[in-house]
Amino acid sequence: MISKESLIRLQQDLPPNVKLVAVSKFKPIEDILEAYNLGVKDFAENRPQELSRKMGQLPDDIRWHFIGHLQTNKIKYIIEKVTLIHSVDSLNLLKEIDKEAGKKGVKVNLLLQVYISSELTKQGLSRSELYDIVALKEQFENVKICGLMGMASFTDDSNLIKEEFSFLHSLFNDLKSNYFVENSQFSELSMGMSSDYKIALEHGSTIIRVGSLIFGERE
Ligand SMILES: *Cc1c(COP(=O)(O)O)cnc(C)c1O
Repeated sequence: MISKESLIRLQQDLPPNVKLVAVSKFKPIEDILEAYNLGVKDFAENRPQELSRKMGQLPDDIRWHFIGHLQTNKIKYIIEKVTLIHSVDSLNLLKEIDKEAGKKGVKVNLLLQVYISSELTKQGLSRSELYDIVALKEQFENVKICGLMGMASFTDDSNLIKEEFSFLHSLFNDLKSNYFVENSQFSELSMGMSSDYKIALEHGSTIIRVGSLIFGERE
């Protein structure tokens, strides 16, 4: 069972230029359908196998997003299925996605995941790794770098979360105006989850990824 009230409130709170992606990882098909029937068309998963399985059982017009750590040997299972990979966290992964996309003759939309939190467990590129990758971007002809993704620290300290999101926003603006000027597809900033999406919206988020607020806590 999903929380209809929360979902409807969330949809109403959403500025028109911001997209809601419902994070359905670990949640059953029935719950996803319930959200779908309330107008959600974008869902995110963090495991390739689960994404494939659910996709086969749900309406074709759902846009699937991938938000988890992606192992290179799993790329081939998802690149033709997903609308956006949010979690490209290494140069090697980017290279392998580009290679696989070339083999399959597809263009893959992706975001570079940046490490912004103070927690050591969260993955993502450091600032310098990010700039190193961006400097090489012309080499990758089969991917579209559509923007950045980040996860703030899991904390009650809203000032810390604000700092982390505004850091990501400033990186995004810098890349957009210095590296992607002639490239309008670099336009997405994926940040904000159930507990911090309101703060993210104040700092330039264009995509929020919300799970537990809609679907309830995960086991
Ligand atoms: C699980 C997850 C979310 C959603 O988290 P909630 O707190 O349930 O909203 C968002 N982004 C990523 C990358 C996740 O892994």
